[in-house]
Amino acid sequence: MAKKKNTSEFPKWNYAPAPESTSHIQLKDRYDLYIGGKWVKPLSKKYFKTINPANEKTLAQVAYANEKDVDKAVKAARKAYDEVWSKMEPSERAKYMYRIARLMQERAREFAVIESLDAGKVIRESRDVDVPLACNHFFYYAGWADKLEYAFPNRKVSPIGVAGQIIPWNFPLLMAAWKIAPALAAGNTVVLKPAETTPLTALKLAEVIHDAGLPDGVVNIVTGYGDTGAAIVNHPDVDKIAFTGSTNVGKIIQKAIAGTGKKATLELGGKSANIIMDDAPLDEAVEGIVNGIFFNQGHVCCAGSRLFVQEGVADKVIEKLKHRMDSLIVGDPLDKNTDIGAINSREQLGMIHKYIEIGRKEGATMYQSNCELPSSGYYCAPTLFTNVAQSSIIVQEEIFGPVLTIQTFRTTDEVIQKANNTPYGLAAGVWTDKGSRIFNVTTKLRAGVVWANTYNQFDPASPFGGYKESGFGREGGLHGLSAYVKQNEYGTVRSVENV
Ligand code: NAP
Ligand code: MG
Repeated sequence: MAKKKNTSEFPKWNYAPAPESTSHIQLKDRYDLYIGGKWVKPLSKKYFKTINPANEKTLAQVAYANEKDVDKAVKAARKAYDEVWSKMEPSERAKYMYRIARLMQERAREFAVIESLDAGKVIRESRDVDVPLACNHFFYYAGWADKLEYAFPNRKVSPIGVAGQIIPWNFPLLMAAWKIAPALAAGNTVVLKPAETTPLTALKLAEVIHDAGLPDGVVNIVTGYGDTGAAIVNHPDVDKIAFTGSTNVGKIIQKAIAGTGKKATLELGGKSANIIMDDAPLDEAVEGIVNGIFFNQGHVCCAGSRLFVQEGVADKVIEKLKHRMDSLIVGDPLDKNTDIGAINSREQLGMIHKYIEIGRKEGATMYQSNCELPSSGYYCAPTLFTNVAQSSIIVQEEIFGPVLTIQTFRTTDEVIQKANNTPYGLAAGVWTDKGSRIFNVTTKLRAGVVWANTYNQFDPASPFGGYKESGFGREGGLHGLSAYVKQNEYGTVRSVENV
């Protein structure tokens, strides 16, 4: 347990009423695969453990799906697609989706605690951000299921077929909902693979899907390692790949599907700029910077990991930032007062430490918050680096942890040039009092999402996705729906591609 007392709200979400207990959470010792509407033992005969990164204890054993298991899941999804789901009245599909959303709401507390246990994220965030947003994705896309002709006017719209969906460990339930909901609304069936370190909420979602009575095989959940994901990508009967994860794996997937005709949406890494202009309300801006980089331990693809601050206010901002960092509580994810929970895995903690070491070797000046870290589990103190160059490795590469770099700038042109000078293009933020500056900067930043005087705002109706090595395609809103439909203009076979 960390020692510091939290002095102000972080981030600006409601506090949980009481520390969460785990006594009402019933985890099974062992989870099988959810295929064809049944829990089935893996043909691989193998299981792996998922742990709680806050204390390194095993939470459950989870089935490992090999190529044969994936094949079984794809066959179940194909059968469900051909025989049931693609033929069903869209309004009926919507009813199933509403039912799933309602059941998720009823079990929201359980979902939130399991998410915090499995991923290490703080309960306040699981409860107030991840779970409600995941429910809202089902509600939102259920609403579109029977209105596709309005979503895509003058087009004959049909589903793509079997969607293979592969998700990362930073927002496990939310990513599952984000992927499954638009696919179902448009009439596709799904084989989804959660990340190896965070399979439990996707398996819980399978229970909800089962209880909602979704026809067998419409959603199949296969747990496993990277090769389970690769088996989905390479399966000849999968029509569409939706992947969220690292840029490296995204590139492997792109190569694997080249020439196959499979459709793809890739949501990859980021190194997003958060810019403070000299006229910005500084306290609000600093709060936004803290939220931008320390939310979810910095395990956020769109984390505002590069702060650019205008010279005239730089000293003041850095001082305020350090003060605010010192007030953050790092510790038990289930404690309602915790601001920064556990790093998701030993491997990720090692990666973050490696980058911190690189920063020091590069000659940057490091500041780490004055907090005591728990003695077991994977934790990292909030860290910032000043005195960095644009070419520094810690400025250029995604760290995916609570590590912020700070650069100063004089002119707007300079900051736009520096902010855009990265292989990524996922998100950005700007803090200023002037509307004209917002317009000028936001239109010149090459990022899929740009926030002004706020950060990390998400809504199922808003499209999300990147440029350059941050991937392609958009998820959320109508763009997210269009990633799961074939659109034929007046009976021709011309497909209108997603963004
Ligand atoms: P990752 O290593 O790329 O893994 C993502 C998923 O792909 C996991 O389920 C993983 O399985 C699976 N996988 C691994 N190798 C594969 C292969 N060769 N073929 C198919 N699937 C494979 O990424 P991560 O470490 O879990 O997540 C962090 C990354 O995700 C960061 O770069 C972050 O920026 C990015 N991200 C992007 C967004 C976005 O919307 N743009 C959102 C969240 C995260 P295992 O877990 O079993 O290895
Ligand atoms: Mg885990």
